[in-house]
Amino acid sequence: MDGPGDILRAVGPRFGDKPALVTATRTLSFAELDALSDRVAAGLVARGVTAGRPVSLYAQNRWEWVVAYHGALKAGAVVNPVNVMLTPEELAFVLRDCGSAAVFTSAEQAPTVLELTRDLPEPLTVVAFGSVEGAVAFDELLACEEPTPAVVTDPEEPSTIGYTSGTTGHPKGAVQSHRAVLLNCALTATMHGRREDDVVVTALPAPHVYGNVVINGTLLAGGTVVLMERFAAGEALRLIGEHRATLFEGVPAMYAMLLADPGLADADLSSLTRCTVGGQTIPLSTIERWQTRSGAPLIELWGMTEVAGLGTTHALHAPPVPGSIGVALPGIELRIADLSDVSRNAPTGEPGELMVRGPIVMSGYHGNPEATAETIEPDGWLHTGDVATMDATGHVFVVDRRKDMIITGGYNVYPAEVERVLAGHPKVAMVAAGPVPDDVRGEIACAYVVPVAGSEPTEDELVDYAREHLAAYKRPRLVRFVETLPATSTGKIMRRELIKQFTP
Ligand code: ATP
Ligand code: MG
Repeated sequence: MDGPGDILRAVGPRFGDKPALVTATRTLSFAELDALSDRVAAGLVARGVTAGRPVSLYAQNRWEWVVAYHGALKAGAVVNPVNVMLTPEELAFVLRDCGSAAVFTSAEQAPTVLELTRDLPEPLTVVAFGSVEGAVAFDELLACEEPTPAVVTDPEEPSTIGYTSGTTGHPKGAVQSHRAVLLNCALTATMHGRREDDVVVTALPAPHVYGNVVINGTLLAGGTVVLMERFAAGEALRLIGEHRATLFEGVPAMYAMLLADPGLADADLSSLTRCTVGGQTIPLSTIERWQTRSGAPLIELWGMTEVAGLGTTHALHAPPVPGSIGVALPGIELRIADLSDVSRNAPTGEPGELMVRGPIVMSGYHGNPEATAETIEPDGWLHTGDVATMDATGHVFVVDRRKDMIITGGYNVYPAEVERVLAGHPKVAMVAAGPVPDDVRGEIACAYVVPVAGSEPTEDELVDYAREHLAAYKRPRLVRFVETLPATSTGKIMRRELIKQFTP
């Protein structure tokens, strides 16, 4: 196997009629997924999509998305998975930025997509999951009778242009090689002990790297993926029971919502053997509460688009190291760089910037050599932008994003630290922290809190609680109660959005 486009051909015949993918509208066996994606590949080639051309996918999680992803790769195209939350304008930017030859989208979104593609410099084929005037129907591709293209994949060539979540600004397109993507799926599958009798329930978006390694890593192992169109706590709990799921995988906010759901009391979680969590800092209290309720270990992981999936996690049977995002994936190098001199390592246990090197690192940002040069050192080390510490056993602890640091009266405060503490308060369901301008201290930390339903925490109560657990300068001086926290399509809380909402 040279890339993720080879996965179905390799495992399809072995697992045949076994369910590979279950969605609300359809269940596909391994053989069906392999055969349908072959048709899509043939249909794309018949429509002039030549090898190496980008093909964008702009749709919610659904079976057609997965078929289109594998079909495009089998045609030799470079897949550009697009976040569904992008506005049409942002989508137009991505299509133009990539130079896409085709875009797959839902019947509902197709008219908008057709409209905006009219202004693109080059014509582009719009494929709709349904029948829409002006668009090629997905069914037409599936009915293609041309032979399946025989594509030879060069492992070093791009397989995907994955845009970052845009948590900290404009999303950037990371060019990921076939080798990087396949290796990440395989290494992650090994670390988490994925097996053919696994049934994974997830609502992670397929376009995101975490979603990708979960879906493709599970298929690689011959397991079944139950893919939710979007996350809803009650529905997730029901699906876990109904499918006797062995794994649930999601971002921290999903676990907070599962724990707050009224359906939790009656949910049957007895089939879970482990769960995974990553994408954002997870409070220890959430981990402990989920482990107690589910009886399954909750394995932390850390990843980013620029490494085509995960960079660290814990092996399934490794002794737990609470609060750590784990160790480097096998064969991948990590180091903690001195914050003022990247050529030096920070002393063991001291915070510095987490750096990653190895075959999972992206080739660069698409069409952006300046950003690439700023992010990848000439000797191959990738700047993650995350501040972390590493202990003597190689376990990494994320402090926070370097850019999110709050400077208050000359002291550095990382919002994640404030969030972790407040999440432990029994009246706090969800929390995010960020800076608020202050005349005296420059900035002060503000906590945005979603209270547990029915509880009425006061600002004083939470500030006092924080004071007990944090150094005086770190405690939030302001608490704002909110109903929800703004999130990306992955479910990551967007601190910047919150700050914008509240700062005139
Ligand atoms: P953008 O780069 O566009 O601002 P983003 O960084 O959120 O968006 P992703 O590539 O989806 O885009 O996310 C990678 C980042 O997510 C990491 O750099 C890190 O900051 C954060 N992250 C991932 N896993 C964890 C984790 N377990 N704990 C803390 N932070 C994490
Ligand atoms: Mg990032």
